Amino acid sequence: MLELDKRSITYLPGVGPKKAEILQKEAGIVSYEDLLYYFPYKYIDRSRFYKVVEIRGNMPYIQLKGRFISFETLGEGRTRRLVGRFSDGTGVIDLVWFKGLAYVKDKYSIGKEYIVFGKPTEFGHSYNIAHPDVDPVENQEQVTGGLTPYYPTTEKMKKSFLNSRAIQNYQYSLLSNLGWKIQEILTPEILRKTGLMSLAEAIRQIHFPETVDLLRKAQLRLKFDELFYIQLNILLTASFRKTKFQGLLFPLVGDYFNTFYKEYLPFDLTNAQKRVIKEIRKDLGSGRQMNRLLQGDVGSGKTLVALLTMLLAIDNKYQACIMAPTEILANQHYATIMGFLKDMDVRVALLTGSTKKKERNELLPAIASGEINIVIGTHALIEETVVFHSLGLAIIDEQHRFGVEQRSRLWQKNRRVPHVLVMTATPIPRTLAMTLYGDLDVSVIDELPPGRKPVQTLHRYDNRKAELYEFLRKEIRAGRQVYVVYPLIEGSEKVDYKNLEEGFELFKEIFSDYTVCMVHGKMKAVDKEREMQKFVKGEAQILMATTVIEVGVNVPNATVMVIESAERFGLSQLHQLRGRVGRGGEQSYCVLVSSYKLSNETRKRLEIMVNSNNGFDIAEADLRLRGHGDLEGTQQSGMGLDLKIANLGADGQILQFARTIAQEVLEEDPDLSKEMNHILKDRVNKLFARKINWGMIS
Ligand code: ADP
Ligand code: MG
Repeated sequence: MLELDKRSITYLPGVGPKKAEILQKEAGIVSYEDLLYYFPYKYIDRSRFYKVVEIRGNMPYIQLKGRFISFETLGEGRTRRLVGRFSDGTGVIDLVWFKGLAYVKDKYSIGKEYIVFGKPTEFGHSYNIAHPDVDPVENQEQVTGGLTPYYPTTEKMKKSFLNSRAIQNYQYSLLSNLGWKIQEILTPEILRKTGLMSLAEAIRQIHFPETVDLLRKAQLRLKFDELFYIQLNILLTASFRKTKFQGLLFPLVGDYFNTFYKEYLPFDLTNAQKRVIKEIRKDLGSGRQMNRLLQGDVGSGKTLVALLTMLLAIDNKYQACIMAPTEILANQHYATIMGFLKDMDVRVALLTGSTKKKERNELLPAIASGEINIVIGTHALIEETVVFHSLGLAIIDEQHRFGVEQRSRLWQKNRRVPHVLVMTATPIPRTLAMTLYGDLDVSVIDELPPGRKPVQTLHRYDNRKAELYEFLRKEIRAGRQVYVVYPLIEGSEKVDYKNLEEGFELFKEIFSDYTVCMVHGKMKAVDKEREMQKFVKGEAQILMATTVIEVGVNVPNATVMVIESAERFGLSQLHQLRGRVGRGGEQSYCVLVSSYKLSNETRKRLEIMVNSNNGFDIAEADLRLRGHGDLEGTQQSGMGLDLKIANLGADGQILQFARTIAQEVLEEDPDLSKEMNHILKDRVNKLFARKINWGMIS
């Protein structure tokens, strides 16, 4: 059979070299397969007339038949609009025009029968249709029947006559050329088990839908394919690693662990911490390599879990390391861990970009000889000059900042692949986690240490600063400390730094009786550290910063987090920042300062922050509001999550279903070696082989 992905679009009648180039540049269409997988983004339904009472949310474009009962001009300025009330006997719907008001009012008359065509949108408790097409009933025969697909096009495409209609014509000529046949990419067994439509039928219906119902089935099939193959790839990778990488065995719970647990642990572990340690210990004793994702909200006590795991490694004569995304965070981990270990006989080294050469030259041999038990550092850890004696455990903090590539370099630090624990405080919605980290086992710390009071979150407009300053003064007088954070957005960094510096000058003036310090990414590491230390030691009452403090800083005495221009931060980021306070026993506050003018979406975002302290809820809301494309972490994931039709926000159930089916397939045939599964194997190799180095994937 013709290999559709190898056949260039230029072979298609009507597509010359020039059009082919535009299709490639503007729409990424190179092969026949690319064309068939270039899906419409909307459909217009002229197959039947709907009744007003039938209108629901999320409909395609529909048509109604009825009469205007009144016209009214409402609103002022930009909201000035003409509202035509339209009735079909079953109900009344508002048709709304914001442009050409006089013309529209003139053109249509009350009482006459019309066909109205448009997309209903929900508005408060009812629906309306903005800028509908309205045709007198007597013109009806001009309107063709069926669902009409609309393809995404750009200005450049349209200029070269590659409009939606042209794309549809290409689809038609390609599909009829192929005799409407397309090679199936799922096995008969999966098709039988799932009851999904065949691929040929799905491709046909997605481009030339006969009914809304068949279209839905086609969409389901194609979404399933997309999510199924991602899952199949992830699960194959995981099982490959499980069989090919032997795990280092850590059978002992020895003196290091026990002594620390009995004599040094300053508090009881939370139940969630205990459960997670148990899960980790099971992995370490299993003979399989651990690949575990540890999720826990900010302040849930992940560092302690990391330390206990490292002590287990040392008990079994291995070294351990923690890799952190920033120097500040590495320093913080170092300080915290030294604080926990006190006089215990564990040698810990800190290795970052600003470690002095002389010190480095002493540390490296001590790491290579195994004298040093724990190394804490940044990217500096993956440099080739760093050689371990016996690295048994690699802990990676704040997952989303490390690409797969960087993670895999850690694997090569030992002849046998070390156990890996990835810690993240950025809660990841379930669907995204399944897709990005679906090959990792997951542990969750879903409980905060006792005695924490939930942070109270307030939203204030920036024209009411005086009250805010008064509030900060009150807290400082009570002995507390305050963070003030400014956004730092790529592209407008200059302005951002200027805002921070101006803010700093202002605060120094207003709070001249206190010490205000400042850190930002452009400062030298030593200066940053000095300023940071002022705050950590309590010498400074106010720390002003860009988002460099986002991760890791632990100052339990700080009770207020002021976030300037909060509208410019994403939800996850706001939540991370808020987690910097509320770490002691005192009531803490997070103040979101924004301008008065906010988009609806932004207002919702800030509302969610005010109403919820739960990182997972917030992450889910973020996914719903923004879609997965914008979520932090997806771009750097290295997984190339360019979904064509599935949507992680809306298609969670299909994803779960696809994963289950993939699991069932692999349970019976772990490496897809059975004859009947060859089509699955071929497809997964084709889709992913080029992107992923199987041996080294984390
Ligand atoms: P995370 O890294 O998950 O954000 P940390 O490990 O920094 O959280 O812990 C936050 C704070 O809670 C630290 O001050 C830590 O010492 C403290 N802590 C951790 N576990 C407990 C516990 N079980 N009981 C009381 N305090 C704890
Ligand atoms: Mg932490």
